[in-house]
Amino acid sequence: MSAALVLFDIDGTLLRRAGPHHRQALVDAVQSVCGIDTTTSHIPVQGMLDGDILAWMLRDAGVRQPRIRQLMPFLMRRAQWIYSRRCPGDLTGNVCPGVVEFLERLRQRRVPACLVSGNLSRIGWKKMERAGLKKYFRSGAFAERGATRADLVRLAMREAREHGWLRRGVPVSLVGDHPNDVRAAKANGVRSVAVLTGVCSKQDLIGESPDVLVEDMRSLRLEQLL
Ligand SMILES: [Mg+2]
Repeated sequence: MSAALVLFDIDGTLLRRAGPHHRQALVDAVQSVCGIDTTTSHIPVQGMLDGDILAWMLRDAGVRQPRIRQLMPFLMRRAQWIYSRRCPGDLTGNVCPGVVEFLERLRQRRVPACLVSGNLSRIGWKKMERAGLKKYFRSGAFAERGATRADLVRLAMREAREHGWLRRGVPVSLVGDHPNDVRAAKANGVRSVAVLTGVCSKQDLIGESPDVLVEDMRSLRLEQLL
């Protein structure tokens, strides 16, 4: 029986500065499916789910909610296809400090690690593959599977229970770089671990009162999650 379950956000937590390809895939998906020129430059994409970013782009272009809902599956499929063809070949240089060492430690202790990300699934897995991190994760709950990040945390925990990786009383932690990660953890009664490797300030994260706050994963000790 494992001593814990650890959930990880991707952008700003495992990887940083992974390039404009992700944003561009969303913009190009809207162009391809709807024929509309949009931008994400005014959208605070950090901590958001990809579906919410796409919806925001369409709302700004004057598309109405029922139509956005109809288009969403096509936009999501297209964005993932575009990203998987254009993703940078090597993201190993974008892995945040201490991540590989921490994931190795979890693996040695047989503590399951899963992804909870606002990325669409093929985008998230592609990033993990190109960063050399895919092998560390047993599963992932991604943007297209829930309306909120809290939903994704709940889903990841349910799947872990169904697979027998998570039993009653075992502590669950969510490692993330954004206030939305901390809130999603708290909404599920999960321990929140905030890292300062994303774009959020220390002040922003302290304001959410995470259970653990570290500069980066080099200073995170496994004992803090057990
Ligand atoms: Mg993040």
